[in-house]
This record gives sequence, C-alpha cells and structure tokens, in this order.
Amino acid sequence: MNLLEVRQVKKQFGSNVVLNNLTFSIPQGSIFGFVGKNGAGKTTTMKLILGLETVDEGEIYLNGQKVTFGKPATNHSVGYLPDVPEFYDYMTAREYLLFCSEITAIPKNERVNRVAKMLQLVGLTQDKRKIKGFSRGMKQRLGIAQALLNKPAFLICDEPTSALDPTGRNEFLALLASLKDEVTILFSTHILSDVERICDYVGILDQGALQVVGTLESLKERYAKPQIELNFETQIEAQQFAAKLSDKKIQCIDSQVLWSYEGTYSQAFHDVVEILLQEAFTAKSISHIAPSLEQIYLEVTK
Ligand code: ADP
Repeated sequence: MNLLEVRQVKKQFGSNVVLNNLTFSIPQGSIFGFVGKNGAGKTTTMKLILGLETVDEGEIYLNGQKVTFGKPATNHSVGYLPDVPEFYDYMTAREYLLFCSEITAIPKNERVNRVAKMLQLVGLTQDKRKIKGFSRGMKQRLGIAQALLNKPAFLICDEPTSALDPTGRNEFLALLASLKDEVTILFSTHILSDVERICDYVGILDQGALQVVGTLESLKERYAKPQIELNFETQIEAQQFAAKLSDKKIQCIDSQVLWSYEGTYSQAFHDVVEILLQEAFTAKSISHIAPSLEQIYLEVTK
C-alpha cells in the first residue's frame, strides 16, 4: 500500500512554474530520498503535502485521504522535522516533550509514558541538561522525538542532516533507518551519500518533475555506467593515453583519466592494460569506480 500518492501536481508562483506534472508515491514502511538542487521545488512539495500551499492542478493523497489546503485533517498522521528545529531552549528535553504532548492533545494519562518512550528512542533519556546546551545532533534527535510524539504514519524530514557534523550525521541517519517499522519517511536532502546509506527509493526532482524515480539499485542499473580510473604522473601523459582511447567515453581531468565502459570490468581492464603495455605508458594506479547516485544525479540533471 502507498502511504503517499502525489498525482500530476502542478504548482506555480506567478509565472514561475515550480512543479509540473509531479507524480510519485511512497510505499508504506519505506524511506524515500527526495533529491534536487536548491530551488528545485522540494520544500514547495512538502508544503503541498502538509496542506500549507494550494495545489494548482493534480491531487495528493496521504494514508488514503485527500490533502486539502488549509484543512489539517491529514496532518494528524504527519510528523515534520525542519532542517534546523527551534525549541524553548530553557527547558530540558523531557519538559519540552511534555509541553508538546499537552498541546498536541495526547491523553493526559499517556503523556509521561509516551515522552519516556520517545526519549529512549532517540537516546536522550539520561540528559538532564537544558536544550540550550545540546549539540546540533542532539537537537535534531529531539526534533525527531517531537515529530513522532503523536504516532504519525508519515514523517517528513527537510534537509535534516545539512547542519550536522559527521558524528551527528551518522547518529541521525542510524536513528532514521531504525524507524522504518514505525513510520514511512520522506527525506529531502542534497547529500547524496546520505540517500545511498538509508533510502529504499530515490526521486530526483529537476525542471518541476521527478526525472527519475525507483530503488537505488534499479536506478544504478539503468542510468549509471561503471568507470575505470587511471592516474598518471603528469597531465600530458594522461592526455596522450586518453588520445589512444579516443573512440571510447573518456574524461580527462588533470593527470586522471576516467573511462565509462560498457560490458564487464574484466574485459575493460584487459583493454586498458593492453594499451598501457603496447604504448609503454606507466599508470600510477588503476581502479574500478562503482556506479554512484552522484553519477546518476549529474547524468539526469545536466
Ligand atoms: P527547494 O526546497 O528545492 O530549494 P523551493 O521549493 O524552496 O525549492 O523553491 C522552489 C522555487 O519556488 C524557487 O524558485 C522559489 O523561489 C519559489 N518559491 C517558493 N516559495 C515561494 C513563494 N511563497 N512565493 C514565490 N516563489 C516561491
């Protein structure tokens, strides 16, 4: 079953058409990586899903219910985590979540337990500090606890890792990946390695629509070409070697040569070594570059 269905959505601001025929769905229990450059329309899409903007054309369904602008009914099943969440930072995490549980109408007799459960989930049980003493990573984890307080079926995370250091990012991604059984996640980001780490599906938004959408594996199979990378001592050597492969798909960057080959690695490796030996070139290194999401992204957004 699809938890989210976005069907042929169009959205424009004045004459600026931001989304045009945007269509995608997110199966229940999965993490969907929503990728696109700045200004591509990711935040606009999230606002449409949250009913905070009008849809010009098309429809959005959340948990089987149609999203309507200004009518918050569908938002009862959505949790939202902004890129830099704001808190009352003179409170402790527990105090803050208790406060949130009051205003989100969680029944009084469930609040203490629910807050304790959320603190445990995000690893903040022991922290007695005020929120103002929290690291960014801790604040992001607290943001998740807040977003999940009301047991939503769907969680929207808008660029949640952009402001985190590598440790905070690792912890946060591990937490998000662990939530899959509880909640379906839309994870917007421009950090492609984060998507590769935790997402089941990827959609690349460009020119108002998803240019590609599917599982990471299916996209790699379809769009990305594996490459062989050779490094030479000098740029001249690299260029001379590249000239010998001129019938092939070659990129020459400084003293590096990249060949996007067809067929098997073993055949491509033999071809490369044969030319190296025949023409008496000495490569400093030869390595295999596996297809990556970055390659796919550059391919479909160029
Ligand atoms: P992203 O989140 O991918 O960076 P946004 O959805 O924020 O992209 O913005 C997409 C485009 O829509 C941008 O050109 C932005 O200037 C424009 N835009 C977003 N919100 C508004 C608005 N309220 N009024 C006018 N233009 C807007």
